[in-house]
Amino acid sequence: MGAGSKILVFVDLPGGELDETGKGLLSYGARLAVTLGAPWGAVVAVTPDSEQLAIFGAYGTPDITCITAGDSLLDTPALLGKNLAALAADHMATVLVLPHNDLGATLAPVAAHELQAAIMTELLTVRQGADGVHLSRRVLGDRIAETRIWDRTRTLVVTVPPRSLSQVLMATVRATSPAVSTWRSAAPLSVPTATVTGRIAPDPQTVDLTEAEVIFSAGKGCDPTTFEQLKELCRELNVSFGVTRPVYDLGWTGFERMVGQTGRTVTPRLYVALGISGSMHHIGGIKDSRRIIAVNSDAKAPIFPNVDEGFVGDLKELLPRLLRQVKAATGGAP
Ligand SMILES: Cc1cc2nc3c(=O)[nH]c(=O)nc-3n(C[C@H](O)[C@H](O)[C@H](O)COP(=O)(O)OP(=O)(O)OC[C@H]3O[C@@H](n4cnc5c(N)ncnc54)[C@H](O)[C@@H]3O)c2cc1C
Repeated sequence: MGAGSKILVFVDLPGGELDETGKGLLSYGARLAVTLGAPWGAVVAVTPDSEQLAIFGAYGTPDITCITAGDSLLDTPALLGKNLAALAADHMATVLVLPHNDLGATLAPVAAHELQAAIMTELLTVRQGADGVHLSRRVLGDRIAETRIWDRTRTLVVTVPPRSLSQVLMATVRATSPAVSTWRSAAPLSVPTATVTGRIAPDPQTVDLTEAEVIFSAGKGCDPTTFEQLKELCRELNVSFGVTRPVYDLGWTGFERMVGQTGRTVTPRLYVALGISGSMHHIGGIKDSRRIIAVNSDAKAPIFPNVDEGFVGDLKELLPRLLRQVKAATGGAP
């Protein structure tokens, strides 16, 4: 399809709410509109309530198009992808932006195929050059930076990694009352595919730490006894478990549990650092966590200036007590 002029940003509303990724995508849409000198709008498959609409407005969203094609749409990504493509064609879209998460990475190739569009996954930066629009991303495990030039003759479908999205708004963005419209494909769309009948949430004990919601991490301040107590606490609380490099070096865990510059960069809702001094190599991997709590026996430990809440305490006293209390609360064996 030849490129039109509007940027459409697809925003997933998990549980009916705009999450961090959704807000980051709205901020991204506003920035892309300035870079490309094009209007933009949001597309959703779940109709937002008034509270969510206010958040869309706070992010300067000019308009929102709700795809209305039945409740099963989100459970049938191929069908949603076809709907997005048809909507993009109807709205003369120049760019269709999706998050690079499970859903967006599934929708993007379907939409690009339907639109006969150009596609760029895991897009990081967009810059207008003299010879076209420069699209950059990192490939091969972030080792190589790649730039492609888009000449704007075809519609472009892009996915943006949630980790690269910022919710910070440009100074020029003004709050709006977004115009909301519904859209349904004029022609019936169908896909010869199975529908999703159920989903199993990831297990915090085994989920990749980059996806973990809550992480308790053990540092060198743990001895073999407190280390085992901490692992048990994580199982009781059903949260994820991480370590610093010295703990990994002791051979107590696999490499996939190591957090920091050499290990995983994590972005959980809550990161609890236990017996961790707070070296820059470790802090670099946790600084984007939403909330960080630390416990260290040394009141002068460098981790404390980097956390939201810090407690001076000895893990040998704290962990057995915490474990007892959690077990009492969850009904586990003392
Ligand atoms: C190139 C390079 C890459 C690196 N990459 C990483 C990385 O990816 N991840 C990483 O973690 N490190 C990495 N490191 C290592 C990093 O520099 C630090 O050495 C490491 O993070 C320190 O780990 P730690 O805080 O567990 O140990 P320590 O620095 O030894 O700190 C232990 C802390 O525990 C406290 N403590 C001791 N006993 C108790 C107790 N009973 N109760 C409570 N607190 C107690 C102490 O006060 C101390 O602050 C890297 C280093 C280099 C050179």
